[in-house]
Amino acid sequence: MTTTSKVALITGASRGIGATIARRLARDDFAVAINYASNAAEADALVAELAQAGASAIAVQADVSRAEQVHAMFATVEEKLGKIDVLVNNAGILKTAPLAQTSNELYAQNFAINTQGVFNTLREAGTRLNDGGRIINLSSTTLALNLPGYAIYNGTKAAVEAFTRVFAKELRGRRITVNAVAPGPVATDLFLNGKTEEQIETFAKMPPLERLGQPEDIAGVVAFLAGKDGAWVNGQVLRANGGVA
Ligand code: NAP
Repeated sequence: MTTTSKVALITGASRGIGATIARRLARDDFAVAINYASNAAEADALVAELAQAGASAIAVQADVSRAEQVHAMFATVEEKLGKIDVLVNNAGILKTAPLAQTSNELYAQNFAINTQGVFNTLREAGTRLNDGGRIINLSSTTLALNLPGYAIYNGTKAAVEAFTRVFAKELRGRRITVNAVAPGPVATDLFLNGKTEEQIETFAKMPPLERLGQPEDIAGVVAFLAGKDGAWVNGQVLRANGGVA
């Protein structure tokens, strides 16, 4: 299925923000690789939807926290679609708990997926991304809010922002930009699960624009950074959050 379109790999694209980014980049004429961890049915349904609309799309299973699976994922995408131009590090989990009540397992799981997962794909991208490519990492506005319960999650995303700034410089000479997008609350499973209606309403009222973000709000920013108009933005963290912080 190797295509003449540019190739984008989006991690965690079976649902939520990642799925919407995949839809948007497909619309912008990228061939898209939809990574997922366990949700094959939703990833396959998205591939079918995009194929129906005339796009090139494949689903590729890999747990981003596992370096060998990430290595194999890059090989699969290269073989099926061609060398990767755009990497979107979107896969992530949010499991909040007060720091003093965080188990070793919860700490390790958060860092394995949100931080080591990004490290694993960045390391592959460093040698395998096409020159002139784009890397976009998902951070979070929670880093600026400092809400109780978010210490570990914020720690995972602070590391991602640090990787973003340094990696942009390490890729000198390759014409590859590395940026992060830091959303505020977005109406997906990750944000909504486990919250009461009242808590959701409180978050929705926080930004001066007085609503929750929608996945499309974030996909538009990612598409900007992946596209022609974003070419001069490099090593930056762009908050997309309706003005909450
Ligand atoms: P979501 O709806 O929970 O979707 C998470 C996606 O990540 C799914 O496709 C899931 O795949 C995948 N995933 C989870 N663990 C994975 C792993 N180990 N390997 C590969 N894929 C994995 O989450 P979301 O709200 O769209 O969040 C996407 C990103 O935005 C995350 O990095 C999150 O931290 C960030 N973010 C979200 C918000 C928000 O309010 N929603 C705010 C700020 C930042 P399966 O379907 O196979 O499980």
